[in-house]
Amino acid sequence: MKILLFGRKGQVGWELLRSLAPLGEVIALDRHSENFCGDLTNLEGIAQTVRDVQPDVIINAAAHTAVDKIETEETLPQIINVLAPEVLAIEAKKINAWLVHYSTDYVFDGSGKTPWLETDSPNPLNVYAKTKLDAEQKIIASQCKHLIFRTSWVHASRGRNFAKMMFNLAKEHKTLKVIDDQFGAPTGAELVADVTAHAVRFALDKPELSGIYHLVASGEVNWYNYTKFVLDYCRKAGVDFKTPPSGLIAVPTTAFPTPAKRPLNSRLNTNKLQTTFNLTLPDWKIGVIHMLDEFLERRL
Ligand code: NDP
Repeated sequence: MKILLFGRKGQVGWELLRSLAPLGEVIALDRHSENFCGDLTNLEGIAQTVRDVQPDVIINAAAHTAVDKIETEETLPQIINVLAPEVLAIEAKKINAWLVHYSTDYVFDGSGKTPWLETDSPNPLNVYAKTKLDAEQKIIASQCKHLIFRTSWVHASRGRNFAKMMFNLAKEHKTLKVIDDQFGAPTGAELVADVTAHAVRFALDKPELSGIYHLVASGEVNWYNYTKFVLDYCRKAGVDFKTPPSGLIAVPTTAFPTPAKRPLNSRLNTNKLQTTFNLTLPDWKIGVIHMLDEFLERRL
């Protein structure tokens, strides 16, 4: 199997390098790659890459993920998050390749308290989410074989993410205010990558499995309790924070106005993925502990 991977240096892309390796030849690109164009702002370039490589599977782990910045950007998010995936989908269709793409819990408006199903109607609250939803629709419209994985709250020991940001803030501040009314599942980039590799292999000769799947760790938590879990775990491992346990303060979303509005209910129902691919998604704490162990070890 020949796999063409875009975005190899992101949280998920980095883990895909590892998880895809046993499946066959992986041509992994980032925006500065020289042999083939891996820059998603170069639409003709990435189309040519697909034509030159002739992969069985294209995996797009690249995206413009700066959710707040995107609110005021004109064209870049549209190019990277919508037009580039569309180009990859059109090229995939031409050569009968699979396209694997990642989307987000943010396509939903966060109403209610029950986990969202793939069949629920999206209603994005911010520009980033709108671009991610548009990409889903362009990919489906292209009629290429596709796996679109909606994930949430991604973490990895490498790269930037919420847990590491809280770790650093707790090192510097005596108090830390964290939102307690947004609920979701912190999901390891490792888990996303491992499930992707399994699903690609499983679906390869089954085009009928094309579709959108929710891919998040099991269980749920809010940002406040997620932060508490991270800091408590690190304290037990010997980390000294300026923020004492009593310095962690729960606040509502309204206390933290951000340019991009976030959904309160980011819970995703993963039954479709687990049943289709015969997988069990582990509790979110397992991935977070693994990430923290790796992160703490690296800091020593
Ligand atoms: P990261 O932000 O860690 O990685 C995104 C990658 O895209 C980076 O390596 C970045 O490169 C690359 N990229 C940005 N612009 C371009 C470009 N013009 N050409 C080529 N590469 C580019 O994202 P994640 O790994 O966390 O996310 C993977 C996928 O999952 C994305 O589709 C994202 O939308 C989705 N997702 C992520 C969530 C999260 O919490 N992180 C939640 C839900 C969905 P560079 O490093 O050079 O900027």
